[in-house]
Amino acid sequence: MRNISTVIVTGGAGFIGSAVIRQLINETDATVVNVDALTYAGNLESLASVSDHPRYFFEHVDICDKVEMERIFREYKPDAVMHLAAESHVDRSIDGPAEFIETNIVGTYTLLEVARQYWQVSCQNSASDGENSFIFHHISTDEVFGSLGEEGLFTETSPYQPNSPYSASKAASDHLVRAWNHTYGLPVVITNCSNNYGSYQFPEKLIPLVILNAREGRPVPVYGKGDNVRDWLYVDDHACALRQVLESGQVGETYNIGGHNEKTNLDVVQSICAILDEMLPDSEHCPHANLITFVADRPGHDQRYAIDATRIDKELNWKPDETFESGLKKTMQWYLQNQTWCSHVQDGSYAGERLGIDKSSLPKLGEG
Ligand code: NAD
Repeated sequence: MRNISTVIVTGGAGFIGSAVIRQLINETDATVVNVDALTYAGNLESLASVSDHPRYFFEHVDICDKVEMERIFREYKPDAVMHLAAESHVDRSIDGPAEFIETNIVGTYTLLEVARQYWQVSCQNSASDGENSFIFHHISTDEVFGSLGEEGLFTETSPYQPNSPYSASKAASDHLVRAWNHTYGLPVVITNCSNNYGSYQFPEKLIPLVILNAREGRPVPVYGKGDNVRDWLYVDDHACALRQVLESGQVGETYNIGGHNEKTNLDVVQSICAILDEMLPDSEHCPHANLITFVADRPGHDQRYAIDATRIDKELNWKPDETFESGLKKTMQWYLQNQTWCSHVQDGSYAGERLGIDKSSLPKLGEG
């Protein structure tokens, strides 16, 4: 097991990165350096509960900025990197792929080069076993494997067949990480996970979008017939899995992480509407399912994703704690109780750092 004392988390102000940082601060002794450019998806309010902690540091830096990244590695001397910074929304990648190429591919390349130089100079010289003194953990998606038919599951050996600009950019970054291990020996692990949901998710993604729209009596959009299938993973379960891989994953290997929760989009939306009816029985919008509106499908929409998570279960003893039902209830309670976070995200006034955004683009729709 690796003993991690200082970890750089890129994209730590995002949805999954902030869950990882809250866990690292609350459940480990590690020093955490959050490197985030605070794009529209980065929100420091998601880290309010840990931001004053003496082991937490924030660096407002773009991962494409090599000079700044070199400074950060020099200053903090990390023994691990958890790389989550990315442009992450499929619909945005269809509208404008350039930022996805820049951050997901060029940014990952920049980070790999900075990490390689740091590892070669600092870690290999100072430790008898250089391999074990540093780990680069790349966090990726199951979307790199393309789309499944009705049967079958993605495994660690499934061929790559990305279909959207987003998934193609993530696939490219996975390949770069693998190559930096194969060619230069940089110690890496890669994880590919299914669709996450939970608290602090930006409400352009399906679950928070539906919760907030339905609560406010706005139409609840569903793509096509709503029969696309996703395997839903509760974000805190994902964060636990990532820590497990960081500490015990085998160098050079890949682990798939899934929630064992295959649902059609329509099932997800109907479940949210039914739970809202129970949680808000006096709402004038009951039954919330009446708000469901079918809209034109996303171009090139992948039909089904489903993960075989046997490897991480058998080798690293990880299983998700939450069922979809328990995780969804927790998530919905959080969104109903955290109006301030939601309204700051919706009116674009969060984080205090960001410029305005085109509000006509909110809320965008999409399950991933
Ligand atoms: P997110 O969009 O919520 O957060 C991304 C974060 O990265 C933001 O804080 C943003 O400010 C930051 N960022 C963007 N560009 C940056 C740059 N150039 N330099 C520094 N920071 C930058 O994303 P998320 O949902 O938390 O996803 C995190 C990672 O997990 C991504 O790599 C994504 O591909 C992967 N992933 C997400 C899901 C999911 O369901 N959300 C599923 C599988 C994989």
